[in-house]
Amino acid sequence: MRSLYEPEHEALRDTVREFIDRHVRPREEEFIAAKAFPRDIWLEAGKQGLLGLQVPEEYGGGGVAHDYRFSAVVGEEAGAFSVALASCWGIHADINAPYLVKLTTEEQRQRWLPRYCTGELWTAIGMTEPSGGSDLAALKTTAVRDGDEWVVNGSKTFITNGYSADLVIVAARTDASKGARGISLFAVEAGTPGFTRGRKLDKVGQPESDTAELFFENVRVPAENLIGQEGQGFIHMMQHLPQERIGAAVANLALARSVLAETLQYTKDRKAFGQSIGTFQHNKFLLAELTTKVEVTQAYVDQCVVAHTAGRLTAVDAAKAKWWTAQVQNEVLDACVQLHGGYGFMREYRVGRAWADARVTRIWAGSNEIMKELIGRDLGL
Ligand SMILES: Cc1cc2nc3c(=O)[nH]c(=O)nc-3n(C[C@H](O)[C@H](O)[C@H](O)COP(=O)(O)OP(=O)(O)OC[C@H]3O[C@@H](n4cnc5c(N)ncnc54)[C@H](O)[C@@H]3O)c2cc1C
Repeated sequence: MRSLYEPEHEALRDTVREFIDRHVRPREEEFIAAKAFPRDIWLEAGKQGLLGLQVPEEYGGGGVAHDYRFSAVVGEEAGAFSVALASCWGIHADINAPYLVKLTTEEQRQRWLPRYCTGELWTAIGMTEPSGGSDLAALKTTAVRDGDEWVVNGSKTFITNGYSADLVIVAARTDASKGARGISLFAVEAGTPGFTRGRKLDKVGQPESDTAELFFENVRVPAENLIGQEGQGFIHMMQHLPQERIGAAVANLALARSVLAETLQYTKDRKAFGQSIGTFQHNKFLLAELTTKVEVTQAYVDQCVVAHTAGRLTAVDAAKAKWWTAQVQNEVLDACVQLHGGYGFMREYRVGRAWADARVTRIWAGSNEIMKELIGRDLGL
């Protein structure tokens, strides 16, 4: 029994499920071939009010930023479908929302948010650079003030939605002498001269998500595209990490749950040596262990969602949820592949795709090692 959701959250869940079943599931192969989700599905999501939940109603949003459970429901359903869907959707609608709602000026909100909510203005966030992602404070992209503009030079890599985004939140160094306190955030808009993208990156999993390199060569960004305060970019990013991490944790666990449920059924149906493979003691115990792990983890994640809704989730508890769910998810999916035998290795089976898609959850958005580093520091070590 999970007790955190109310009927209005479950109603949103039904809408999200129907959206996925009707507009995403039947076209999966098309998205894989295109190495991207096409804009029309996001426009449809926008039409159904599924992109702007954290945006105030006056800008066309759902106005429920105060209740993170709505966003968590979307993350659960998208996550249960695929890592790629959850990440592309989540970067735009969940991770980028506080940057564009809380750190912006009234003029910026008027300029961007209505089209953000409809899906006409698709967004990405560029922190990671070819020289490193874990050590964010060491980023090398620069932005130098020149009159009413900032001149941006550098590059970003592995950027989700990077190829198709109309607006990218870019972290750049504005003061070389100040380390982490010399970083600022800018909205770089598509079509700005000098802003180009590389190819869609060829990944081991998630072929349908658009992941790209971004290049900035003397890109003149208007001063009114600075997001938040000059020199506070690193702090802004740290402030919004709990939401990014709990969003990742929700999606991680949702996929593990979903594939585990399918695998349990498979082990009941599939026979070897005259009996269902799930009834061999080894497999029965394995499934019992995995189910226990998923349910216990769900209790922790649910508490984190409740805490975030109440504004009490700490960055350290969010880090615990993120690394642990990534670990559990990878363990569950690997076992599910094994239980499917050779079929588990076939792309036509969802379990194999999910396993390959999920390998990166231990790496991105702060690797498991970095999460443990943060937790260790909190322990006074
Ligand atoms: C598919 C995909 C999508 C992504 N989407 C985005 C996005 O939208 N926006 C964005 O900005 N980034 C994105 N990333 C980048 C991602 O966040 C980084 O890959 C991640 O932060 C790790 O950075 P790195 O790849 O440079 O590895 P590195 O920082 O070079 O780390 C390499 C290894 O060293 C370990 N390591 C580093 N420091 C320590 C330490 N102090 N202690 C112990 N071990 C350590 C790491 O854990 C890792 O195992 C994405 C990546 C992928 C693969």
